[in-house]
Amino acid sequence: MPTPAHWESQRCRTGLVGEVCKECGARLFPPRDICPHCAEPAQTVFRFRGNGEVYSYSVVHYAPAGYETYAPYPVALVKLEEGPLITAQLTDVDSADVRIGMPVEMVTRKIREEGQSGVIVYGYKFRPRLDTLDKESHSEPARHLA
Ligand SMILES: [Zn+2]
Repeated sequence: MPTPAHWESQRCRTGLVGEVCKECGARLFPPRDICPHCAEPAQTVFRFRGNGEVYSYSVVHYAPAGYETYAPYPVALVKLEEGPLITAQLTDVDSADVRIGMPVEMVTRKIREEGQSGVIVYGYKFRPRLDTLDKESHSEPARHLA
């Protein structure tokens, strides 16, 4: 029977694979095999699309060992379309440009795996959705007429 550690090493690096509870329909990430909502077994694989928005964020200025070259970097609590909140590093964005509610999408990036000191690392990061960035860069007032 897969343990959470097994899941983490085998699944999470290649995408947002979680589980769905057959009993109540809750989507779980990271996978934990037991639904936190109804305590029923939840072992049905569910693949998240990887889209969400920034629910909250903070900027890490003093990175743990191994992450120094990234600091300062933004770490966000991302609310996935499917419901779960997950913690992930943001990438391809300046810390000063991160906004609450910013649409983001998952990207798989090479990442240190010896994550400690409260930084949760599953092998993915989130970046601003390119389509929404494009919209923001177009500031013509007549855009809505198009
Ligand atoms: Zn459930």
